[in-house]
Amino acid sequence: MLSRKEVFNDIDAERKLKIRKWGLAINRVEDPDSSNTWKLAVLTEELGEVAKEVVDGSNRIKLRNELTQVAAVAVAWLESL
Ligand SMILES: [Mg+2]
Repeated sequence: MLSRKEVFNDIDAERKLKIRKWGLAINRVEDPDSSNTWKLAVLTEELGEVAKEVVDGSNRIKLRNELTQVAAVAVAWLESL
Protein backbone atom coordinates (compact mmCIF):
# COMPACT_ATOMS: atom_id res chain seq x y z
CA MET A 1 0.00 0.00 0.00
CA LEU A 2 1.24 3.48 -0.88
CA SER A 3 0.89 6.67 1.11
CA ARG A 4 -0.95 9.60 -0.42
CA LYS A 5 2.38 11.41 -0.72
CA GLU A 6 3.82 8.51 -2.72
CA VAL A 7 0.75 8.45 -4.96
CA PHE A 8 0.97 12.20 -5.60
CA ASN A 9 4.71 11.89 -6.23
CA ASP A 10 3.99 9.18 -8.82
CA ILE A 11 1.38 11.39 -10.51
CA ASP A 12 3.82 14.31 -10.56
CA ALA A 13 6.54 12.08 -12.01
CA GLU A 14 4.13 10.91 -14.72
CA ARG A 15 3.28 14.53 -15.58
CA LYS A 16 6.98 15.41 -15.82
CA LEU A 17 7.64 12.33 -17.96
CA LYS A 18 4.92 13.30 -20.42
CA ILE A 19 6.10 16.93 -20.55
CA ARG A 20 9.66 15.72 -21.27
CA LYS A 21 8.30 13.37 -23.95
CA TRP A 22 5.77 15.66 -25.61
CA GLY A 23 6.59 19.15 -24.33
CA LEU A 24 3.94 21.72 -23.57
CA ALA A 25 2.98 21.97 -27.22
CA ILE A 26 -0.43 22.96 -28.46
CA ASN A 27 -3.05 20.24 -28.71
CA ARG A 28 -1.98 18.71 -25.42
CA VAL A 29 -4.38 18.07 -22.56
CA GLU A 30 -2.81 20.92 -20.56
CA ASP A 31 -3.42 23.32 -23.45
CA PRO A 32 -6.33 25.63 -22.52
CA ASP A 33 -7.22 25.88 -26.21
CA SER A 34 -7.65 22.12 -26.69
CA SER A 35 -11.29 21.08 -26.67
CA ASN A 36 -12.84 19.39 -23.67
CA THR A 37 -14.19 16.76 -26.05
CA TRP A 38 -10.66 15.81 -27.04
CA LYS A 39 -9.47 15.88 -23.42
CA LEU A 40 -12.32 13.60 -22.46
CA ALA A 41 -11.30 11.21 -25.23
CA VAL A 42 -7.72 11.10 -23.89
CA LEU A 43 -8.92 10.52 -20.33
CA THR A 44 -11.35 7.83 -21.47
CA GLU A 45 -8.61 6.10 -23.46
CA GLU A 46 -6.47 5.98 -20.33
CA LEU A 47 -9.42 4.69 -18.30
CA GLY A 48 -9.91 1.99 -20.92
CA GLU A 49 -6.36 0.85 -20.26
CA VAL A 50 -7.24 0.53 -16.56
CA ALA A 51 -10.25 -1.58 -17.53
CA LYS A 52 -8.05 -3.80 -19.68
CA GLU A 53 -5.65 -4.39 -16.79
CA VAL A 54 -8.58 -5.31 -14.53
CA VAL A 55 -10.15 -7.63 -17.11
CA ASP A 56 -6.81 -9.24 -17.89
CA GLY A 57 -6.17 -9.76 -14.18
CA SER A 58 -2.85 -8.00 -14.36
CA ASN A 59 -0.58 -7.44 -11.42
CA ARG A 60 -0.86 -4.56 -9.00
CA ILE A 61 2.10 -2.66 -10.45
CA LYS A 62 0.60 -2.51 -13.94
CA LEU A 63 -2.78 -1.47 -12.54
CA ARG A 64 -1.14 1.19 -10.39
CA ASN A 65 0.75 2.54 -13.42
CA GLU A 66 -2.42 2.79 -15.48
CA LEU A 67 -4.34 4.46 -12.65
CA THR A 68 -1.47 6.92 -12.24
CA GLN A 69 -1.75 7.76 -15.94
CA VAL A 70 -5.50 8.41 -15.53
CA ALA A 71 -4.77 10.74 -12.61
CA ALA A 72 -1.99 12.48 -14.53
CA VAL A 73 -4.31 13.21 -17.44
CA ALA A 74 -6.92 14.53 -15.00
CA VAL A 75 -4.27 16.79 -13.43
CA ALA A 76 -3.19 18.04 -16.85
CA TRP A 77 -6.82 18.81 -17.67
CA LEU A 78 -7.22 20.65 -14.34
CA GLU A 79 -4.07 22.66 -15.08
CA SER A 80 -5.65 23.79 -18.35
CA LEU A 81 -8.80 25.22 -16.78
MG1 LIG B 1 -2.41 4.21 -19.77
